[in-house]
Amino acid sequence: MIIVPIVGPSAADARRQVRASVRDADMFELRLDLLSARWSGPALAAFIRGSKRPVIATCRPVREGGRFEGPEEDRFARIGDAVRAGAAYADCEQDAVGAFRVWCGTRHLRPRLIVSQHILTPGLPAIGAAYRRLRAARADVIKFVYTATDAWEISGVQAFLRRAARDRQPAIAIAMGEAGEASRVLYRVFGGWATFAAASDGEGSAPGQPTAAVMRRVFRAHERTARTRVYGLVGQPVRQSKGIYIHNPLYARAGFNGIYVRFPVTDLDRFIRRVGPLLRGCSVTLPHKAAMAKKCGTFTGSAACIGAVNTVVRTRTGWRGANTDAAAALDAIERKMAVSGRRITILGAGGAARAIAVEAVRRGARVTLANRTAARAATLGNELGVPWCPLAAVGKMEPEILVNTTAAGMWPAVHDSPLREIPAGVRLAFDAIYNPGMTRFLTMAESRGATVVTGVTMYAGQAVDQIRILTGLRVTAGQVLRLFRAASVNH
Ligand code: NAP
Repeated sequence: MIIVPIVGPSAADARRQVRASVRDADMFELRLDLLSARWSGPALAAFIRGSKRPVIATCRPVREGGRFEGPEEDRFARIGDAVRAGAAYADCEQDAVGAFRVWCGTRHLRPRLIVSQHILTPGLPAIGAAYRRLRAARADVIKFVYTATDAWEISGVQAFLRRAARDRQPAIAIAMGEAGEASRVLYRVFGGWATFAAASDGEGSAPGQPTAAVMRRVFRAHERTARTRVYGLVGQPVRQSKGIYIHNPLYARAGFNGIYVRFPVTDLDRFIRRVGPLLRGCSVTLPHKAAMAKKCGTFTGSAACIGAVNTVVRTRTGWRGANTDAAAALDAIERKMAVSGRRITILGAGGAARAIAVEAVRRGARVTLANRTAARAATLGNELGVPWCPLAAVGKMEPEILVNTTAAGMWPAVHDSPLREIPAGVRLAFDAIYNPGMTRFLTMAESRGATVVTGVTMYAGQAVDQIRILTGLRVTAGQVLRLFRAASVNH
């Protein structure tokens, strides 16, 4: 069940939030503490009576992260009015449930009860104690919310919901914040009763809430079960990634019961220990590509030589790593020009430069490196046994193929370029940057008559390989590109 909080503050705002989300919401939570005081009485009651979805009445006090500051008596009265108007559930905080029950009893109100607790101090709280406290309230539904600082902390949600499922106790558990997003999306995988999703972007009631449209139509979170195979992107940051808009629709089209979520991870060790067993595999991005490679027992392709992975699958004996970036970059280039025997200069000395250099050498290219920080180029060049130079001296390498792996020109700095001018003799230029597709570097190269290949082609190629390695599904670069373009426009 997907619950959408209606946060107002005005009646017009609330109506707009309902219109924006009613297709994707199973229930609304009316956040009485966030609504304007001017909107109350008969008008509010009419809103509840006319709701197309059941309503939860919540009036969250400041101590639990809400905005209500008045006496408890007034707070209960607001909830009570909503219950009289037909609210299906009343939400009451665990520390106030005794008083609320007495208050309701004397007024002959018997609302179905969600008993909740919100821990605002960041970090993973003691889950067992929280579960016992909430369970003791003997409520229709129990709800536990805390604030995650790192994606490994969603393991607390899984533990909480596992206990609740064992006791057949309907329960909601959520790790708030961007780091906890997966806990909201995977609620059915963990056996949760419901999740919360925002009516529209920026109109959630807590940080880290995806919109109801994304929750239902991209993640299809409400259809998931304990049998759903869980994949995701591990990195920091991961918010900008388009992966969820590509993997999830492709899984759905193939009838594959898999879900792909975002894991903003700082502490990779803990993540692997606490969340790893939940995963079938994952994509890996900065800054964990090299660290994750060290956790792999086996590799496919040139990943072992590269020393960095962007794809890992969990096998019975441990993690198996692959690097689909390197092959995808070279495949994109070789669709226009074979690299064997050609002079390729790679700009940059980071992870992408290393991966592409290893693969280019493997395919017979004569590789040289050029980097802004010459010392980094020297280290990598010496390690791979290829010549190197400072960025300013790139012309001396007489490249036929020029590959940009630096971040210069990446959105939002779209007017940057790693070079002031493209050396004469460059016949093909490739840029690993995919946002934007046509970078300043490529525009400059094209105006000098070079063939250009964008990072979007590489992105599609690495995604095709990654999806095959993770799930066994065969998808095409065209499918990936269509979804990538749609995601770039819509998200
Ligand atoms: P990284 O390890 O952080 O390396 C960044 C490199 O960029 C370093 O060599 C750095 O030089 C250089 N650099 C940064 N800003 C610069 C500037 N203003 N001028 C000149 N050089 C600059 O990053 P990475 O993992 O290699 O990734 C690099 C790029 O590849 C990113 O744009 C990423 O989006 C892209 N990529 C694309 C795909 C795809 O599918 N298309 C896949 C992976 C990566 P210093 O050493 O001097 O700091």
